Amino acid sequence: MDPIIETKDLGFAYRSGGQSLTILKDINLKINAGELVALQGPSGSGKSTLFYLLGGLLKQTSGKITITGRDLNTLSSNSLAVFRSVNIGFVFQQFHLLPRASVLENILLPMRYTDVPRPPIKARALQLAQELGLGDRLSHQPNHLSGGQQQRVAIARALLLDVNLILADEPTGNLDSKSGKQVLETLFELHRQGKTVVIVTHDPEVAKKCHRRIVLKDGVIVEDVSDGQKYDQAKDLIDHSLPGLKTAVRKAPEGPGILAELFLAVPSAFSNLTRNKAKSFFTMLGVILGTAAVLAVITLGEFSKSRILEGYEALGVNKITLYGNQNWRNTKPEPGAVPFNGFEWRRDFEPLIKIFPEIKQMSPVMTSWQSSVIYGGRTIDDKTIKVIGVNHEYLAIVNGSMKEGRGFSPYHIEGRDPVCIVGGDIAKELAVSPSIIGTIISVTLNQNTTFPCRVIGVKATQSSNSEWVQPNKEILIPYTYFQVLGDSWSSRIRNVSVKIGDSGLVEDAGKKLKKFFELKYGNSGEFRVDNDSTLVAQMKRFLSIFSILLFGIAALSLLVGGIGINNMMMVSITERLREIGLRKAVGATNRSIRTQVLVESSILCGVAGAIGVAGGFAACGGLMYAATKLIPNIKFEWVFNEWALIVSVTAVVVTGVLSGIVPAFKAEKLQVIEALRSE
Ligand code: ADP
Ligand code: MG
Repeated sequence: MDPIIETKDLGFAYRSGGQSLTILKDINLKINAGELVALQGPSGSGKSTLFYLLGGLLKQTSGKITITGRDLNTLSSNSLAVFRSVNIGFVFQQFHLLPRASVLENILLPMRYTDVPRPPIKARALQLAQELGLGDRLSHQPNHLSGGQQQRVAIARALLLDVNLILADEPTGNLDSKSGKQVLETLFELHRQGKTVVIVTHDPEVAKKCHRRIVLKDGVIVEDVSDGQKYDQAKDLIDHSLPGLKTAVRKAPEGPGILAELFLAVPSAFSNLTRNKAKSFFTMLGVILGTAAVLAVITLGEFSKSRILEGYEALGVNKITLYGNQNWRNTKPEPGAVPFNGFEWRRDFEPLIKIFPEIKQMSPVMTSWQSSVIYGGRTIDDKTIKVIGVNHEYLAIVNGSMKEGRGFSPYHIEGRDPVCIVGGDIAKELAVSPSIIGTIISVTLNQNTTFPCRVIGVKATQSSNSEWVQPNKEILIPYTYFQVLGDSWSSRIRNVSVKIGDSGLVEDAGKKLKKFFELKYGNSGEFRVDNDSTLVAQMKRFLSIFSILLFGIAALSLLVGGIGINNMMMVSITERLREIGLRKAVGATNRSIRTQVLVESSILCGVAGAIGVAGGFAACGGLMYAATKLIPNIKFEWVFNEWALIVSVTAVVVTGVLSGIVPAFKAEKLQVIEALRSE
């Protein structure tokens, strides 16, 4: 029969500051299945260290440990965790129970890290509790139990997966003598049932009751006696192994798969997070605000961008406006140059089509300042009403269309006809029934010239982003008629709208037009071109930079929130060092520990993100509502922006995972004994 524990030249040394501090040296030990062994020795002799080594909780620095025929060195840390959980039960001096879990939950803890069938294990937990006198304490928390009861919970936990080997480190060290006796009696009973029990103790009374006594001193075995005689393996085999022992290497059940692991991590994550609700909430606050900010910034940014650009595009993107003014500072006219004092359509523009094939349409734009309209006893005297002298191509240039009636024909322009096209608002306010088309209205131009004109059309409503351009309050008349009405100054053309066929050529065409007139008129004129497409492009660029900036600020606040979560997880790991150590001792793999931490940070971020998304949407809706109330003539509406949702959710997920990664790996890297020895 193979021994259940066998060590060969086992040694352990701490390395600190380049020095090696030997704790255990050349331990050669064989313990057979069914033995009851006391590991004795003065304090500091290395008993606990040997206990951790034999339990696979600490890696030796030399030699070899074989448990039930398995060389522990050949197992990966994860298989070692699973191997431990089904082969070795631990009992510690400090009990190491989870303080906030019930007795039953504590007993069931090792089940959490295996995929053994649940119902029989739960039945076994109840049976163990009954046998150990804990039947009426199942839902109590450990701090409501006596020390003896707590240690018996720990023993029940050690026995849950029906292990064959029980390792106990000073199990009675924290107990009064009566409870100590009960606990010892329990361990002896386990030995009688056929389990191998190793009790670490410095108490000679305890050691006396065991068949075999191994004494450590300064890290070496100084005595090994069995029933009062020097230990003899052959004899011991006959004396102590009971029939029917389960010494075969137990097949370690696989740990739970990653999905099961995730699923299992959720309830304990929730209970950890709800333990201190205020702390969790304030930790989440950063992420809540960050998510809401990301969402709001994108939604509002996209809304204002589309509104602003819509305004521009509605007025025609491929449009160039050319301004020509007499240069008053030009004191020395160039000889031979034609002096400029306003454009003349025939002379200046009709030939242009041939020179610039990219031009599609052109129209003079002659604008009045304040004007008013009278019809049928109604007067509209509104500062925003403008009379504009144009030609038949103007509407097409500004992307306008007719709601009623028709636009100008070349004959209207040629004939200086007293006709007009009115903007939608004017038609509405004059309220001529059944139709304004065909009626003659009276228009006062620049507050001094009043003239009649016949309405031939009503423009469809157009939006505008500028208070200077109000297309719905315009009255268009043939520019030739405008010239007839005005004096010699106001009848000059100084402003021309030009539509270019290809938007890519707009900027270039603008420059060429300016150059053309500068060459033609020399210093006598000043020429300037404006084009909306450059403006739109600039505006787009500006808005994008602005959005990126705002988004950066929002993302930064999310990052700060993430750091908060990262911080809280770090703190909570430090607070829970012993719990993590214990979980590892009873079989938690590194993956389970990592998953646990990541699930906690993800839940924090997920809940915060969900609140943040809802808050962000509510904030956008609220802002739009308030804006509509404050600025009634602009239509604000909350438009669902899927990108806002996608980006903010992605940002939250990334934050959650990132904020958990460092704490998760920190928790995973924890050495079991450091965690267990921490206070
Ligand atoms: P025992 O359980 O017999 O009292 P331990 O195994 O706990 O002894 O400790 C054995 C020796 O190892 C002691 O001298 C102790 O000071 C030392 N020791 C324990 N932990 C560390 C550590 N982390 N670094 C250095 N020395 C340690
Ligand atoms: Mg000790």
